[in-house]
Amino acid sequence: MFKKVLIANRGEIAVRVIRACREMGIATVAMFSDADRDALHVSHADEAYRLGPATATESYLSIPRILDVARRAGAQAIHPGYGFLSENSRFARACAEAGVKFIGPPPTAMELMGSKTRARQAMQAAGVPMVPGSARGLSADEAVELAARIGFPVMIKAAAGGGGKGIRIVGARTEFEAAAESARREAEKAFGNGTLLLEKYVEGARHVEFQILGDAHGNLVHLFERDCSIQRRHQKIIEESPSPALTPELRRKMGEAAIAVARAIGYSNAGTVEFILGPSGQFYFIEVNTRLQVEHPVTEMITGMDLVKLQIEVAEGKPLSLVQDQITSSGHAMEARLYAERPGNDFLPSTGVIADWTAPAGIDELRVDSGVETGSAIGIFYDPMLAKVIAWASDRDAAVRKLAYALNCISVQGLNTNREFLIKILEHPEFTSGAYDTSFVPTHLQDLVATFEGREPAAVAVVALYLLKTRQFGLGVLRDIPPNYRNNPFRDPSIKFSVRDDKLELSYRCLGDDDYIVSTGDWRARARILSFGPGSIRIEFDRVQFTYRVVESGDDFFVHSFSGSERVTRLDKYPAQPGGSSDESANSPMPGQVIKVLVQEGQDVAAGDPLVILEAMKMEQIIRATLDGVVHEILVKAGDVVTPGEILIQIGRTSQSE
Ligand code: ADP
Ligand code: ADP
Ligand code: MG
Repeated sequence: MFKKVLIANRGEIAVRVIRACREMGIATVAMFSDADRDALHVSHADEAYRLGPATATESYLSIPRILDVARRAGAQAIHPGYGFLSENSRFARACAEAGVKFIGPPPTAMELMGSKTRARQAMQAAGVPMVPGSARGLSADEAVELAARIGFPVMIKAAAGGGGKGIRIVGARTEFEAAAESARREAEKAFGNGTLLLEKYVEGARHVEFQILGDAHGNLVHLFERDCSIQRRHQKIIEESPSPALTPELRRKMGEAAIAVARAIGYSNAGTVEFILGPSGQFYFIEVNTRLQVEHPVTEMITGMDLVKLQIEVAEGKPLSLVQDQITSSGHAMEARLYAERPGNDFLPSTGVIADWTAPAGIDELRVDSGVETGSAIGIFYDPMLAKVIAWASDRDAAVRKLAYALNCISVQGLNTNREFLIKILEHPEFTSGAYDTSFVPTHLQDLVATFEGREPAAVAVVALYLLKTRQFGLGVLRDIPPNYRNNPFRDPSIKFSVRDDKLELSYRCLGDDDYIVSTGDWRARARILSFGPGSIRIEFDRVQFTYRVVESGDDFFVHSFSGSERVTRLDKYPAQPGGSSDESANSPMPGQVIKVLVQEGQDVAAGDPLVILEAMKMEQIIRATLDGVVHEILVKAGDVVTPGEILIQIGRTSQSE
């Protein structure tokens, strides 16, 4: 039995594997690159070792460095997660040579399946149905000739491919050369191998895969299917089980084929056999992923099993106690992958610091597997998947509803994500009907990337009220309208914001304590602030109450409510207080830790003077005075953890006026 396991990965999958280990009483070792020193997975493990610089080749892909960590930490086994070295048979062999157990299939099976050409050859020999195509790398001339023979459309794939990279659909001969050339370039860049192969493109097909699990004693079972037909750039973004497309009969046949594939390659541990399912029910093998899959929680939720624990037990040599006929599936599970990317811009990854991460907690049968937290930096070095959200319910409609609800609840701010895009998919009638195929996303792209409209006025009103609340404007001194806003005595005070590409001016009139009329353009509402706390404000707009999360980062305010998220930028600075006539407080703009207080009580300060150094979002922020005055009271000290809006320092009117 293992006492200590090294997790040779990062992000949500590392966190997830650590959780399983802890539940089994296995100590965990994390490893990190320089970009990940403060990453979530690192803090979750019992111990953590630096690997090297940020680039994957010098860290998470460096076999010698990883084995060195395993040796120093005394780990008996390595879990590779997915991506990185998980399907690298050289790594699996190097582990064996170093006397560390690789938690995964035998290297021989990985070698057979690691290349799509070799996999095709092996499956041909085993008599598994495959789409017409080539089982070996082709020269440019051979490829054109084969394409003409099997008939367009065809699919070009990178032999060494994965994650949808190096794939092109070619509809006609005239497009072939250009497509092959760009696929080759992409494959060379991603996998260091430009070998291509060709398959008949099955139109109107679904991606249906089977989870398989085997032990070292020849026992092999499948744990049903996952339908992963919702893909962008040929990579899955929503997965579910059961597949709406399978009859019990088809499920049985495909399950048997999956087991036949696994037997033919001497498989053990967890793996996935991927099939393409044509519109008339014919299915074809596409590949085996020789690792734990991103979407494995879907299977866990319908079977009640923990695949990572099973992987570990099998690697320890324990025989599987599962019998195929006794494995049952219950209800419906659905997963959505949350990526830092811009669906409206060809799904290009986006980077930045997560200004707010809040996910629903305490909902039964809802799982949020996240690799990030508030303050996490999303860089350019690794895969931009942030989290997975998985919902289980007794039937498909209920699971769809629950997953959409959960995605609506999640606040992920500070960078672009596909959150709204995922919600739109879940609400699309073609998706809810279950009758979709792999062309769903490209076909409906325009509908799916359309932005949510119409909530900007409320968002700027929320930020204005939040500002009125957090800036205090001299508590007790200015109970209602800050006079400095009255640049014209016949007009209500206003604050200028930009949201998306629009500029909005929000006017407000104070009617009493926490009671306002707010308006912008032709939108107008009575707004009462009901409660206010760190990072959140509850407001009743025209007798309808909502709670908003508000997170501040410089001039940006991130507002989230169930009806959506907005980034609101403040355009005009608060004018300095004229003549030092009122009090002011310096508040924390975001969650953080006080590094140093730079002033003393009684000290004179001028507007712009630094007051406090705060560490927030992994960066140092200097909080400055906004008026000339004297430090009345210091409410924090170095080391304190502060919440957004918390008052750090009270500044009073200048002493000479007293
Ligand atoms: P699945 O078949 O489980 O859905 P994908 O094909 O989407 O898996 O790829 C699994 C994940 O691993 C993806 O997020 C992908 O971008 C990531 N990945 C694949 N190869 C690498 C690699 N070499 N380094 C880092 N991440 C990788
Ligand atoms: P990767 O290794 O990048 O995951 P796959 O071979 O699994 O590549 O293909 C990625 C996706 O492309 C599949 O999930 C499926 O949706 C689609 N696909 C693959 N082969 C075919 C085919 N012959 N016809 C139609 N679609 C296909
Ligand atoms: Mg695949």
